Amino acid sequence: MTRRMETVFEASRPGRKGYALPELDVPAVDCRTALGKACRGKPPRLPEMAEVDVVRHFTRLSKLNYSVDEGFYPLGSCTMKYNPKVNEVAARMPGFARLHPLQPEETAQGAMKLLFDLGAMLAEITGMDAVTLQPAAGAHGEQTGLMLIKAWHESRGDAKRTKVIVPDSAHGTNPASAAVTGFETVEVASDDEGMVDLGSLEAILDDTVAALMLTNPNTLGIFEKHILELTEAVHRAGGLVYYDGANLNAIMGKARPGDMGFDVLHLNLHKTFGTPHGGGGPGAGPVGVKAELEPFLPSPVVVHKGGRYTFTGKDERPRSIGRVRSFYGNFGVLVKAYAYIRALGPEGLKEASEMSVLNANYLAKKLGGLYPLAHKGHCMHEFVLNGGPLKHETGVSTLDVAKAVIEAGFHPPTIYFPLIVPEALMVEPTETESVETLDRFADAMEEIVAKARSEGPEAFRGLPTTTPISRPDETTAARNPILRWQFGE
Ligand SMILES: *Cc1c(COP(=O)(O)O)cnc(C)c1O
Repeated sequence: MTRRMETVFEASRPGRKGYALPELDVPAVDCRTALGKACRGKPPRLPEMAEVDVVRHFTRLSKLNYSVDEGFYPLGSCTMKYNPKVNEVAARMPGFARLHPLQPEETAQGAMKLLFDLGAMLAEITGMDAVTLQPAAGAHGEQTGLMLIKAWHESRGDAKRTKVIVPDSAHGTNPASAAVTGFETVEVASDDEGMVDLGSLEAILDDTVAALMLTNPNTLGIFEKHILELTEAVHRAGGLVYYDGANLNAIMGKARPGDMGFDVLHLNLHKTFGTPHGGGGPGAGPVGVKAELEPFLPSPVVVHKGGRYTFTGKDERPRSIGRVRSFYGNFGVLVKAYAYIRALGPEGLKEASEMSVLNANYLAKKLGGLYPLAHKGHCMHEFVLNGGPLKHETGVSTLDVAKAVIEAGFHPPTIYFPLIVPEALMVEPTETESVETLDRFADAMEEIVAKARSEGPEAFRGLPTTTPISRPDETTAARNPILRWQFGE
């Protein structure tokens, strides 16, 4: 069992130093005399360690993290695919990395061209007319998109539209974004096939509905068969349709939300387009819109005129909802997305989607014999297994299975989401995995199910044994996280 690592504060010994400074060769200055009140009363409580111990500490710490560069990470909905290193090289080029957001436009033409072209490429991929790159994450994109929808309705004098419809399979950020934007959410039920039920939708559509938010393929990995009827029904009732494109892995180059009747969407560049998801790093959630909503997009916007790129001025876009992010968004993430799209090209993006669907169906077929699939038929880029029967039969829950997956050396799939499948395990293998990796994962899952049947839940209680923390109290960890060293007095 891995021993809990000491923090740098516990490893600290008074007087230890990790540096050697040369003799002072200028007159010493007293801090109080020089800075007065701004000088701190007590020295900061920094850990005192030798260089070698600092290096070992952080190197060990880095190895505690499980990453997509280390192994299979089948996190459904969240798309953890391998991100080619050439994207990182591009983002690190001094011409991009060393830019200051306030430097004169004429000295940043290359970066501005990149923003302009990336917006155009994302519009082409999604079938939208215009794109803002400002939002910093998927949920931020949702909020921005809903603000645009609100501004659009208000511009038409239609102020009574206070409701946003979300399916019961929706990602949790959808109702949350609707709430922070001042909308009331109304849930629409899925049918037996895991799709939005047209009849149930029509029953709740009226002149108080601002928008329907949809993910397609949805969080069950199923493509909405009646997508055109769904978007038409909303339009007929005077509403708009929002596409949650956090995960575009199944449809790049194959189908475009703009052609399905969607009016507004966001993409997670940190899932589909070259940046790993999560891990505390920055993301980007660009928002695309149809022409009618373009005037409301956040400002400034990069425009190309007279052979040069320029940002729109303060008064040029009077109907804009304003800024949603400082400067121009998370630029490094945008560079990586640009590099990713240019490296793959139209055919490469299409192939990535085809491979991601193929890998998901391959794994669904292999695992479908162990766990019932939540829904029959072909899936798109991900699928949901129902862990209910295994729990009923053996007492081993989906949480136990996930812990055993960690023990087997993989990152677990997404669990207990979507909410409409009890004990759900949501698997997204992605296109970057080889058949050998998929087979190894399927073998591990088979062994876990066999262990559940032969040994029961007792055998799972202490798992995983290979991590510094095995089974935290997840509610306390989420509600009352202690993320800083607590100095004893
Ligand atoms: C990840 C995800 C989001 C939210 O994206 P963040 O960048 O985490 O805010 C929204 N919808 C779906 C379907 C997602 O998978």
